Amino acid sequence: METGASLQQAVRVLRDNPMSDSLLLSGGRVLTDRGVEQADVLVRAGRIDAVGTGLDAENVIDCTGCWVGPGFVDLHTHLREPGQVHKEDMGSGAAAAAAGGYTAILAMPNTIPAIDTAARAEAAMQRSRDISTVTIGTAGAVTAGRAGRTLADLGGMLAAGVRWFTDDGDSIRTAGLLSAAVEALGESGAVISEHAEDASLTAGGVMHHGEVAALLGLAGMPAMAESLIIVRDLIVARETGAALHIQHVSTEAAVELIAGAKQEGLAVTAEATPHHLTFDHTELKNRDPRFKMKPPLRTQADVTAVQAGLADGVIDAVATDHAPHTKRETVEAGLEAGAFGVIGLETAAAAVNTALGLRLEAFFDRMSVAPARLGGFDLHGRLVTGGGPANLVVFDPALEWVPTEFRSRSANSPFIGRPMRGRVRATIHEGAVTYQLGGS
Ligand SMILES: [Zn+2]
Repeated sequence: METGASLQQAVRVLRDNPMSDSLLLSGGRVLTDRGVEQADVLVRAGRIDAVGTGLDAENVIDCTGCWVGPGFVDLHTHLREPGQVHKEDMGSGAAAAAAGGYTAILAMPNTIPAIDTAARAEAAMQRSRDISTVTIGTAGAVTAGRAGRTLADLGGMLAAGVRWFTDDGDSIRTAGLLSAAVEALGESGAVISEHAEDASLTAGGVMHHGEVAALLGLAGMPAMAESLIIVRDLIVARETGAALHIQHVSTEAAVELIAGAKQEGLAVTAEATPHHLTFDHTELKNRDPRFKMKPPLRTQADVTAVQAGLADGVIDAVATDHAPHTKRETVEAGLEAGAFGVIGLETAAAAVNTALGLRLEAFFDRMSVAPARLGGFDLHGRLVTGGGPANLVVFDPALEWVPTEFRSRSANSPFIGRPMRGRVRATIHEGAVTYQLGGS
């Protein structure tokens, strides 16, 4: 419990330092360490100074009707740097993240070149430190060049501080490589994160294998392509004790497999994307390439199961799989030739709120608390507490809006033109306002 004395002290320090750049998040519903409270949050010198009532500061953001909690954390962002900065770079990706309420994101290693050595991981970390508006974590590839032939320099990347390994974009090709990776990572606490897709079943596929693909005459990617890799990985995890994370869960079968593994006590976690929580494969009926991604949009039964999985915690976290591509590679290329993937950072919170309408605590758990814990972002995903780090978001769960433009360098979003409910009003990273709705 905050004492009155510490609040008074905070106010006195402010009065004694009139030039200090203090910020008050005023009158929101706040996720504090005492539960949800109607309160003011005073931010000063990069930290939360106090949480209480009747506080004052030089700069005030009116949070009436809003939720105030830990900034969102994304375990699955493609920043395209190095190699494809015409799609996105760390600066534009950070701007998109801030606009979406994110204070920390984990950059996937499928850049060009892939992050598969200590030197490349260190270079990515160094570049990340140039970005002040969002904390950017670095993930490493499991196999050299993500090529699925030999292990990447896992020991070197571990020594550089990498704790998240994935061949995302593809599955880890064989059970042998997965087992060897688990052994190489040893007791480091590192997580192996899996893009579950059996490529022997998806080669040439454009969308979900089902009646819509048949109607359009397109090659499909069956649901079992996801299940087969998850089954394989769960068996390896059972034998080795691996810490396994399943990315972008898209099927009812996958949700059931993960629920069973958790019941068994395996160290498995999972994420779901805003698009898989929202859309089914009928969205592709008019051949709109903005709905093309891996894994593909599935059936309504799958969407419902993924929603239920997230709501009841079988799926631990929302992750965007923010995957920027240019207009030429998407809408101009058409559905069959277009690239896989959609952007997501700027619409994720709204999409989750629109699709699920979670209560405040569960919303922040899936968007902030759980992903921060899984990704090892120690200064993020914390309950709002005096003395704590000021990585915060102000989210208005009732504000209705329609996305039309983005801070991302790319605009390949399935949410363009879709009415959404809930919007980020402000994002605070290390005490500084990195985004404010209606601001510059
Ligand atoms: Zn993936």
